[in-house]
Amino acid sequence: MAEVTSRKDIQTVSSGDGDPWAAFRQIERLTLSLTQHYTHTLGKYSRFFIELEQKRFLATRCESCGRVCAPPRPLCPNCLQPTHWVELTGAGTVETYSVLHFSPGSNADVAALTTPYVLAYVLLDGASTLFPHLLRAEPEQVTIGMRVRIAYVDGPVEHPIHLMHFIPME
Ligand SMILES: [Zn+2]
Repeated sequence: MAEVTSRKDIQTVSSGDGDPWAAFRQIERLTLSLTQHYTHTLGKYSRFFIELEQKRFLATRCESCGRVCAPPRPLCPNCLQPTHWVELTGAGTVETYSVLHFSPGSNADVAALTTPYVLAYVLLDGASTLFPHLLRAEPEQVTIGMRVRIAYVDGPVEHPIHLMHFIPME
């Protein structure tokens, strides 16, 4: 269900005699806000988020090829075999990163971030894939190859993925 509210601001721009657009100089400007409420299921990924609440980080491992996916994948992308859950320590290495000077504000957790902030792609120890997430560190401090670890947040958060982020390893 969506609720749309608007605030009107009507202005007439004076343009003098002989303005061919005089009939169109009354401008109505709307300030819109849109609130959307919907239900989203986390499906086969639910356990990943449930374990985050317990400050545990789970990935999935394929017994056929040994690939460990973090974020988890119910099916191995290599062999399409069902995977099983494995726990990782949460330590990892920054493979690449971006410094964001604008927050998309896609939810309340993201909107609360102060810019600039760092989005890091981390290869967690024991994983085969990169895990992208917030790295809470000064941008000048971040380097490719730096060691980081997961820090857990007690919440409340809007989306459970924000129960964790990365921090530099001491
Ligand atoms: Zn596999």
